This record gives sequence, C-alpha cells and structure tokens, in this order.
Amino acid sequence: GIILGIETSCDDTGCAIVDTEGNILGESLNSQHLIHLNNGGIIPPIAKDLHRKHIENVVDEAVALANLSFDDIDAIATTVKPGLPLSLLIGMRYGKHLCRKFKKPFMPIHHMEAHALTARMHDPTVQFPFLVLLISGGHCLLAVAVKVDKFLLLGESIDDAPGEAFDKVARRMKLKNLPEYSQLSGGQALELAASKANDPLHYKLTIPMLQYKNCNFSFAGIKSQLLYQVIREEKSKDVAADSPIPGVYDMCASFQLVVTRHICHRVQRGMEYAERAGLIPPDKKTLVVSGGAACNNFIAKGLSMVCGELGYKMVRPQPKLCTDNGVMIAWNGVERWKENIGVYTDFENITIENNAPLGESLIEEVENQR
Ligand code: ATP
Ligand code: FE
Repeated sequence: GIILGIETSCDDTGCAIVDTEGNILGESLNSQHLIHLNNGGIIPPIAKDLHRKHIENVVDEAVALANLSFDDIDAIATTVKPGLPLSLLIGMRYGKHLCRKFKKPFMPIHHMEAHALTARMHDPTVQFPFLVLLISGGHCLLAVAVKVDKFLLLGESIDDAPGEAFDKVARRMKLKNLPEYSQLSGGQALELAASKANDPLHYKLTIPMLQYKNCNFSFAGIKSQLLYQVIREEKSKDVAADSPIPGVYDMCASFQLVVTRHICHRVQRGMEYAERAGLIPPDKKTLVVSGGAACNNFIAKGLSMVCGELGYKMVRPQPKLCTDNGVMIAWNGVERWKENIGVYTDFENITIENNAPLGESLIEEVENQR
C-alpha cells in the first residue's frame, strides 16, 4: 500500500506519501509558525486562509518529490479530528476532492492517534501495547496504545497544555526581544534561555498535584507561580518596557525544572498503574514521547531517568516528526490500510470533529486505585 496523508488540524499544512515499509516517498510542509508568532497566537480565520492558499501546492510538491502520479496511490488519509474546525475543514475538503477526482478511498485520521503511532514507523521494536506521552501546544496526555485503533487514556491536563504554558511564559518574559530568539517558538526560546541559567533553584516553585492519586497533569499553576515572580522582579528593579526581566535565565530554568519534575512524577504514576493493572507486559515496557514539547531535551532527560528506574525503553521520534506533519498522517493511514480499518469508498458523510478525546478513558479507574 502507498498512502498519501494530509494534515491541516492547526497551523501546519502538511502532506506526505508513505509506503507499507515506512519509507517516506515524498513530503512537503508549509508552516504558519512565523506569521502566528507575529500575531501573538493563532487567529483561526488567518490559519484557514493560509491552509487554503497552500494546500494544493503542498500536495503537488509531495507527489512530485515522490516521483509518483495519483495512479500509484492507494488511499488518501486526512486528519479530521481533533483541531481547529476551520483548519480541519480545508484539509478534509481537499482530501475528499482528491478521492473523488482520482477514485480513491478516503481514510479519516485522529491527529493524536497519528502522533502516538509515528514512533512505530522507524522503530519496529515499538510494539503494542506501549505507553505514550503526548506533550504539545494543544495537548498533554498519557495513554496506553493497545492496537492501531484502540487507546486507553490514563491521564490528561486539567488546564493548559505544556507547550501552551511555555509559550505564555516566554511571551510574558519577552524572550523574543533577546538577540537570536525572535524566530523561535516559546518552548524553544525557553529551553535555550534555561540553558544559560546560573541557578535553576533560585526561584522556588512547587510541584503541582503531588497529593492526587491520578495521573492527570496541570501546568496553569506553575505558570502563575512564575508570573508572580516576574511581577516581583519587575517591581523591585523598575525595568524598561522592552528589556528582559532581571533573573530571566534562572526563571526559565526554574520553570523548566518544575515542569519536568511534574511530568516525570505523573508519568511514573502512570507506569505504576499500568503495571498493576497488567496493561503493559513486564518484559517489554516502552514509553513513546512525542508532540512539540517532546523536542525539549531537558524534559526528555528527566523522562529517560524515570524510564531507567522502572525498566522502560524510551522512544522519541526525531524532532520533525514530533511536531505536526503530513508523514504521521500518511503513516497512520498505512497502519490502518494494512489491517483494513477505516478505509471508506463511501465517505461523503464523514465530518470533522473539533473535540475528540483519545480512546477510552481509564481516568476514574486510575483515581480509584488503592
Ligand atoms: P497540537 O499538536 O496539540 O495540536 P501544536 O500544533 O501547538 O498542538 P506542535 O506543533 O506539536 O503542537 O508543537 C508546538 C508546541 O511545542 C509549542 O507550544 C512550542 O512552544 C512547543 N515546543 C517546541 N519546542 C519546544 C521545546 N524545546 N521545549 C518546550 N516546548 C517546545
Ligand atoms: Fe499535533
């Protein structure tokens, strides 16, 4: 099978063609990142217009790079949930249009399932069932991937996603005004600033949810604690509007450290629960970490320590596959194609869903454990 995948759920227009062995035959991506950075966040109608402007070229480029024609493609996989409705609609309409034009089956794809399964594309040792942590600008969830179309949700963020918290903190600390930081996402800027710190323990922030027996996450409280420190520093030092906050590097490091400790603590709880409930086989324990915030090497180092302690192998896709892209959608199409799951020749009634939880929730079961 050769599958073409289309991704437009948020602010990246992506397309890729992937074969059954996981070879990327052609790929193309148009990122709206810089435009939204200048607007201070994503404005959905602008995202939609940019998707509409680029979708045709992005798809044509991926097909041309693959040196293929549509005759060679078996099906078209497209993200239909979850995401920004206006953005999702552009991809779905274009995907269906191609299916009609070239008489191909349509495969609706869940964006988060695609993130979770990407790790299997280049690493055949990632076999079901495995634990997966997805940390990005819009999501934070911990789940067991049982099979291609079966996921069990162990925990999720009760407020902000980690990437969102990184972005908000970076904006408030005016990191963009530092030299060499203007093109970076909030998360990248914060990681770079944190690497320049003298004392990551200078600002004392408390780890949230330590007393909670579930594996949910919370990042809004850490963010507020830090922003309170920002205000204190600004008041005490009387800083000019555009200049960086005093103590900015230590603040970034303190924030990153507490975020990391929190994520590690929750993941460790999830591992312990999965083990007790028999969800993960004791002889092959794997943690997949993906999503934009998985690019953070400090968080990854913390997680690899937890994995070492509990006998897990950690797998992190390369950075370009952690953030949104067409490859992961095509690969999810491949995985489904192989098992003949979700391949539709009659697809007119398939529609987008802006909210679509990943899998079946075990959050209550986790909470009620002893
Ligand atoms: P979703 O995939 O949930 O719809 P998204 O499109 O915002 O959300 P991604 O494209 O996967 O997510 O990732 C972007 C997010 O990742 C941003 O919030 C960004 O700040 C964060 N991020 C990127 N690099 C890093 C890093 N090194 N450390 C922390 N966060 C990072
Ligand atoms: Fe994503």
